[in-house]
Amino acid sequence: MSLENKVVIVTGASSGIGEAIARELAAAGCKVMLAARREERLKSLVQELGDGVAFHLTDVTNAKQVEEMAEATIKRFGKIDVLVNNAGIMPVSPLIELKIDEWNKAIDINIRGVLHGIAAVLPHMNERSSGHVINIGSIASFRALPNFAVYCGTKFAVKAISECLRQETLGKVRVTIIYPGAVESELIQSSNDEQTINQISKDFSEVSFISPTAISNAVRYAIEQPDEVAVNEIVVRPSNQEL
Ligand code: NDP
Repeated sequence: MSLENKVVIVTGASSGIGEAIARELAAAGCKVMLAARREERLKSLVQELGDGVAFHLTDVTNAKQVEEMAEATIKRFGKIDVLVNNAGIMPVSPLIELKIDEWNKAIDINIRGVLHGIAAVLPHMNERSSGHVINIGSIASFRALPNFAVYCGTKFAVKAISECLRQETLGKVRVTIIYPGAVESELIQSSNDEQTINQISKDFSEVSFISPTAISNAVRYAIEQPDEVAVNEIVVRPSNQEL
């Protein structure tokens, strides 16, 4: 099915997986709204990708900003076909370190951010009886690992929210959750616990991190199915990643 003129919002489009999704969908002919906080990155991506791509500075922890971004998308492109809830951070540390501010930040971005995205598009999709919400989960959506307690908690939540949304919007909104394994990106930089980062680097030293394009390919696959086909869950890991 052609992706030509599908209107897609991508949160966290300024780097890593979100940037790869924006590039792939723009190349396929979608109209793409980039949503994130780093203006310079978004500006240069829009300059590179051309007229079919726009950006709106958005902090996903702020429901009003996310709503305004959705309104700006409709104003610019006329509708919203797909929301990709991709923005996320991964602070890692043992619970005993009590990094409560970091825990709250992860909850605000990884869970509230996803809910704010859904809130911003659901009335529009419900009214049109058409739409697609794609949430980026993680292997951490179904595996609990030491030092990843809060990250796993947020990604377990994204899995539950995705399944509830699917059941509540049957026949109207397609819902997909994608669970990436280890992907090259800036994600680890959202953590500042050197000791834990070093431990994770050791644990993953044998794993060949895959390109973000492996995830953008999965997003594209989910979108390009015919309307009556919903691809609900996809796991994409490096072929040599055990957990
Ligand atoms: P990056 O750090 O490269 O990208 C994260 C993106 O999220 C950035 O574009 C950042 O943009 C955006 N972001 C962070 N906070 C906010 C905020 N408050 N409001 C709006 N945007 C925000 O990491 P990845 O590309 O790897 O991560 C993308 C998603 O993939 C995340 O949900 C992550 O959990 C998930 N994932 C990644 C894996 C990996 O191995 N890389 C594995 C499994 C899942 P800006 O700072 O400009 O706002």
